[in-house]
Amino acid sequence: MKVRTEHIKETVREFSFNEPAESFPVLAAMMAAGECRFTGSVQVALTAERELDHYRVEGTVSVPVQLDCSRCLCSFDRTVFSRFTIFFREGAAVNREEEDEVELEERDLISSSFIGDEIDLMPEIAEQVALEIPLKPLCSESCKGLCPVCGIDLNSSTCSCVSEQKQSKFAVLKDFKVRP
Ligand SMILES: [Zn+2]
Ligand SMILES: [Zn+2]
Repeated sequence: MKVRTEHIKETVREFSFNEPAESFPVLAAMMAAGECRFTGSVQVALTAERELDHYRVEGTVSVPVQLDCSRCLCSFDRTVFSRFTIFFREGAAVNREEEDEVELEERDLISSSFIGDEIDLMPEIAEQVALEIPLKPLCSESCKGLCPVCGIDLNSSTCSCVSEQKQSKFAVLKDFKVRP
């Protein structure tokens, strides 16, 4: 997933890449840690152009992933999708102050750097994907999760523990109201 700078000197160029998730070290590490399972390859479509003292790389990345719901523990499939704009400057690492300034002005813009005549997109693309993987995945915003008492999946069943819990909460509330 590299772009040669000599190819983008004069004009805006389009590129597309298709890489297995395993070839991105960051994503391979996430899978090894059990955070998610990528079920297909990482697809990237982007344009690259030269602007003043930097290269502007803009595009989208998507990859299908299987996650485990943090509430009901079921596995579900989702497609991670992200739009990105990255400025690549030639030379040593981007100076911190400059990067902060860019972040303040336009939150979604990322500054990076490259050395030589090739821009390696893999680290930044992997970062984009990693940012889209939720720390606490939910199969649905309204997932009811598992009953903390009997462990039953409350999305598909009900149990009597739940009503008992509600009653005790109500009892606590009543006591509170009674207090002078
Ligand atoms: Zn769930
Ligand atoms: Zn229960």
